Amino acid sequence: MDSSPLPLPLKTEDGSFPFTLELEEHRTSERIEAELKDLGLEAHRISKTGLVTVIENGQGPTVLARADIDALPVSDGTGLDYSSTIDGVMHACGHDMHITALLGAVRRLNENLDAWSGTYLALFQPSEEDAAGAKAMLDDGLTSKIPKPDVAYAQHVMPTGTINTKAGPVLSAGDSVKITVHGRGAHGSMPHLSVGPVVLAATIVLRLQTIVSREVEPGEFAVVTVGASNSGSTSNITPDRAELLLNLRTYDMGVRDRIIASIGRIVKRECQAAGSQKEPTFEYYDQFPLTDNDEEANDAVTKAFEDYFDDGVAQSAEPATASEDFSEIPDAFEIPYAYWMIGSSDADKYEKAVEAGIVNTDIPANHSPQFAPVTDPTLEIATKAQVVAALSQLGR
Ligand SMILES: [Zn+2]
Ligand SMILES: [Zn+2]
Repeated sequence: MDSSPLPLPLKTEDGSFPFTLELEEHRTSERIEAELKDLGLEAHRISKTGLVTVIENGQGPTVLARADIDALPVSDGTGLDYSSTIDGVMHACGHDMHITALLGAVRRLNENLDAWSGTYLALFQPSEEDAAGAKAMLDDGLTSKIPKPDVAYAQHVMPTGTINTKAGPVLSAGDSVKITVHGRGAHGSMPHLSVGPVVLAATIVLRLQTIVSREVEPGEFAVVTVGASNSGSTSNITPDRAELLLNLRTYDMGVRDRIIASIGRIVKRECQAAGSQKEPTFEYYDQFPLTDNDEEANDAVTKAFEDYFDDGVAQSAEPATASEDFSEIPDAFEIPYAYWMIGSSDADKYEKAVEAGIVNTDIPANHSPQFAPVTDPTLEIATKAQVVAALSQLGR
């Protein structure tokens, strides 16, 4: 929803990776604030760019619904009429859909106060992609600034599917780690005077592949991806260090802890084997908790979706390998939550868009420059899903 240029290229302070848009949703936040104001509602700013609006409507339970609002450092390649106007920044994860659907739900609930009773909290959360936004709002006193909810809801658009719900783990825990290993730099012609970090990193990368294949129980879900390996700059210099960026995904925190221990063991022993004189370092960042839907909360929304929507619209989900920081909010309030997914492709429309040359690939996934949720019917379904979920608790 941002519409004016940001200072680009956006980088970390020292110009290095990882690249981030953390807490940069200033104009999106202002726009949401303006939309709420148009509805006669006050927006409480919590953290730099997070917002909560509270609709108090008599006795009854309190429901919190959350939309994430951040974009990604991706250049929009959809060519659609709602594509990003900012070079290098795009709502490639569909959070613009989440914002619009939640604003729509707020509007409908606010215009139909006779239909329900209780308190509705609409929470617009920044920086989901960096796992920084829920934390930023909690650090700014979220739990003491709004009424305590009884249940929390969130939804996410996915390239395929309908409305998909699931009790228990629905999104994986995610961890990123930057590993720095140290060698001894020297002239490229003098291997006897060096400890080569390129070879060291290469052996670590291969050995890390054995964690999932040889250490995790067959059938248990785990991902260990080496997403980046950086060392050296030219052929005749042996550099003095190498950096690896790893991404981990798990559905079981015990499995996660064992994988982290395995990474530590492998990296340290490979450094010893190579003759590295300095201990490797491990910096964990972008850490996402497990999204583990409460059974009762999930069953209640699932039943409400089944009752409201046509047959076949609400279906059970398979757990996804993506991750989310949403659950940090209900966990901080110690309340149950349900997180569901909304399919965002209309197969017929998609085919027509391909025929018209507007899009040119198979249905693209979230984070793709071609990710293109169809507005109709996705927006309507996503908006109704938020209203139906709220009314399952608040309806008269
Ligand atoms: Zn995303
Ligand atoms: Zn997302």
